[in-house]
Parts: sequence; structure tokens; C-alpha cells
Amino acid sequence: MRIETEPKLDFKDVLIRPKRSTLSSRSAVDINRGFRFLHTGRDWSGFPLIAANMDVTGTIPMARALAGVGAMVALHKYYPAEHLVAFFREEASRNTFYTIGTNEADWEKFAHVKRQVPVPMICLDVANGYTERFVEMVAQAREQNPDAVIMAGNVVTGDMTEALLLAGADIVKVGIGPGSVCTTRKMTGVGYPQLSAVIECADAAHGLKGQVCADGGCTVPGDITKAYGGGADFVMLGGMLAGHDECEGEIRTETRDGREVPVSMVFYGMSSDTAMNKYAGGVAKYRASEGKTVEVPYRGPVEATLQEIMGGVRSMMTYIGATRLKEVPKRTTFVMVGAQLNTVFGG
Ligand code: 5GP
Repeated sequence: MRIETEPKLDFKDVLIRPKRSTLSSRSAVDINRGFRFLHTGRDWSGFPLIAANMDVTGTIPMARALAGVGAMVALHKYYPAEHLVAFFREEASRNTFYTIGTNEADWEKFAHVKRQVPVPMICLDVANGYTERFVEMVAQAREQNPDAVIMAGNVVTGDMTEALLLAGADIVKVGIGPGSVCTTRKMTGVGYPQLSAVIECADAAHGLKGQVCADGGCTVPGDITKAYGGGADFVMLGGMLAGHDECEGEIRTETRDGREVPVSMVFYGMSSDTAMNKYAGGVAKYRASEGKTVEVPYRGPVEATLQEIMGGVRSMMTYIGATRLKEVPKRTTFVMVGAQLNTVFGG
């Protein structure tokens, strides 16, 4: 047994210190970024935000809405092949990841779709990206899809970030346990504070000219800005995008003044009982559910939430004097707050 004593940080443990700058207006900043991907050499530019490949948020309507502001979606795995073929003919699919898990059926469906339409970006998604089998899966996906951008995860440490990039990933997805409907930390005791995970994985990835996507744990726009400040190239959101019209979730209503009005939406982890009952015919005997089911407020079209997020990012950039999103990590100084100070200084 070993204990690491260096403090590790979550978003809530820090704030971004303002810096003197010549910027006077939020409109003077550019929240888009351009990337050239490690293995494909392909270029992409836009607002590097990705809706999570959960069945409520990783939807085709969400992909269309997010593409409208230059952002992205990782589609959930449960669309029938015909829907995917039709969608990957649309312009919005240029900003969309096709998600594949570990099971055979996912790969067969992918092969079927790929025979009919080009699939430019793939998300290889497993709960635990530390297995040898997953590294082999990434290598195989790279071999079979030399021109596709591959995002793979999840991991939380630099060594495994490097391993996935070397195996063929362009973007490594970072986060074990921080998700809003995730119970992995409670059920297994395993996890890593998300901001530190992002900082450490980004450092490892950038050394190899790869990218990272901070996945999970953002609850307010300020968490997204902290992820960018810590070096995240992309940020993935589940809970913050749930509850909108573009989601595919069960809406709960209430009667008000004799009318039925939507008030909330059911949202759940992809390894929750709810998801496993829906897609896998129940929770297998050898495993426990590692996700929970909640109700999030109904919030109408996603457009207003996106504007709020983009407004928060722009404002953060004016506070620290960053003209372009790319400059944000260089201009970011985090100050530790609250509990972490007690840990470090024994307060
Ligand atoms: P959020 O933005 O809601 O905080 O986090 C979204 C992320 O939580 C997803 O992209 C995914 O990585 C993770 N996630 C989704 N469902 C589950 C689950 O059932 N269990 C765990 N451990 N993580 C989940």
C-alpha cells in the first residue's frame, strides 16, 4: 500500500485569479479553437464543447443544435443503424462522434454504417480505460479507421493518457467518478479529483501533440472555464445539457392553472439500474450499478443554456486577458480555496 500526499483538486477547490489586461469587451475574445489531430492530421475548428454520449443528451437533435454554435456531440450508442446512416449524411455530422463500446454488436453496427456513409469521428467509450483489452481496441480501431478522429477513454493519469495516444487515439477522455449521476466513487472507492486529472493528463497529452477532453463534473459554466484553464482541449457535459427540448428523456409534467406544463426530466447514469434495465435486460449478477437516476429541471431549448455557457467562457477570458481560447491555460493562475487550504496548511 502507498499513499500519495500531494493535494489533488476538484473544480470547487479553486478559483481563477483575475489578471491585468487590455481587453475591454467580451466581444473582443474568440472562444473557438482550431486543432490538428495527432494521427489523422485532420483539422477541426469550433467551440470545443461536447454533449456526453448518454442516451438523454447524446442525441441527433442535440447534435444539430450544438453544430449551430460550432460545438459537438458524442451520440449515444442506441440509435438503429438506419438513423445513423441518415444522420451521417447531414452537415451537422461533421461535429459528431459515433460512439462504440466494447461489445461485438456495437462493432458490427459500426461496420454496417461505415459501409454506407463516412464516419469522420469516433468515440471509444468504456468506464475503465486502464485495461489491456481497451488499449488493443484503440489500436484496432486506429488500424481500421486511419482517417477518423478517435477519442478514447476514460482515464485519469498521465501514463495511461500516453498509452492511449500511442495506441492510436487523437483525444483522450479524462474522468473517473466525477459525473453528476455517477456513483463509482461511492460504490468502488475509485476515482481522482477531476481538475488535477485534467491538468496531469493534458500535460502528458500535449507532450505527444495529442488532446484531452475533460469528461464529467461540470455543474456551472465556471467549472467549464476551470477545465479549459487546467489545459482541457475539449469539455464534455452530461447533466448541464440534460432537461432540454433536444434531449431524449422522459418529461414529467404538473398541472398548473388547468394546463399540463413540463417541470422536469428523468436523467440517469449509463451504468445505473435505469439504463441497464432499459438496454441490457437488468443489472448483471457479477456487477453493481455505478450510476443513479435523478430528475433535472425542464429547461426548454438548449440555445439559452449554450449562450450562458459561452457568455461565461467569454467573460472569464476578459478577466484573465486571453484573446483566444488557446491562450487560456497560459493566462490561468488558480488560487486554492476552502477545504484544500485546510489540507495543505492544516487550517
Ligand atoms: P456530468 O457532465 O453529468 O457531470 O458527467 C457526464 C459523464 O458522466 C459522462 O460523459 C460519463 O463519462 C459519466 N457517466 C455517465 N453515466 C455514468 C454512470 O452510470 N456511471 C459512471 N461512473 N459514470 C457515468
